[in-house]
Amino acid sequence: MSCPMGEDRGFASESALVSPGRVVAWRRWRLCPDPSGLPLLGSAHMHHIWSSRTLQANCDPSRTWSYRLACGDDDSHEAPAPGCRCGIYAYSTAEWARPMGPGVWAHGRVLMGGPMFLTDNGYRAREATIDGPLGLTIECVGGDDLYSPTRCFESPVILKHNTKTYFPVCSKHHNAPVHVAVDGSRTIGEFLEGAAFLAFQLETFISTPS
Ligand SMILES: [Zn+2]
Ligand SMILES: [Zn+2]
Repeated sequence: MSCPMGEDRGFASESALVSPGRVVAWRRWRLCPDPSGLPLLGSAHMHHIWSSRTLQANCDPSRTWSYRLACGDDDSHEAPAPGCRCGIYAYSTAEWARPMGPGVWAHGRVLMGGPMFLTDNGYRAREATIDGPLGLTIECVGGDDLYSPTRCFESPVILKHNTKTYFPVCSKHHNAPVHVAVDGSRTIGEFLEGAAFLAFQLETFISTPS
């Protein structure tokens, strides 16, 4: 099954196919809560959960219109395909994979495998394996609202959560987040115990800023 390579769809810079073999790369993840509030390792943008150390990519054309735009109705190809957006993404430098600010983030090294394409800032591959510790950052969301979009660097004391995400808050911002439904909360200690168990399941470990 072929997939047309659209020259004017913004993929022109990822035309190079990297030779097979393992490539060191870097990712960040958003930690997201399971129904009881304990952490899962979620992708930063696509709400995909990493439930094991190695993840295999599958193309899912039903997911967004952009897949169909790239590949039409011909949806049966292995990831990554040229012109499509499928595959596992990672950055080529640790610097670019740094956490994004408020919330709970993990970042770390991965080994990319299988066919892969070069992107503007890294790789888009068939397979990725977590390779080393996951650095964890927990930053208060109290400064990150519509009215004061600044960052708060006070140490969070509690982690609120809804079904999708965590909201760490410091003692000064105990009313945050504003205008967002919250389902429950965990202490930082309970969360870190859960994070350590998650790391065990993923055959890695967690490092937190001292
Ligand atoms: Zn695809
Ligand atoms: Zn705060």
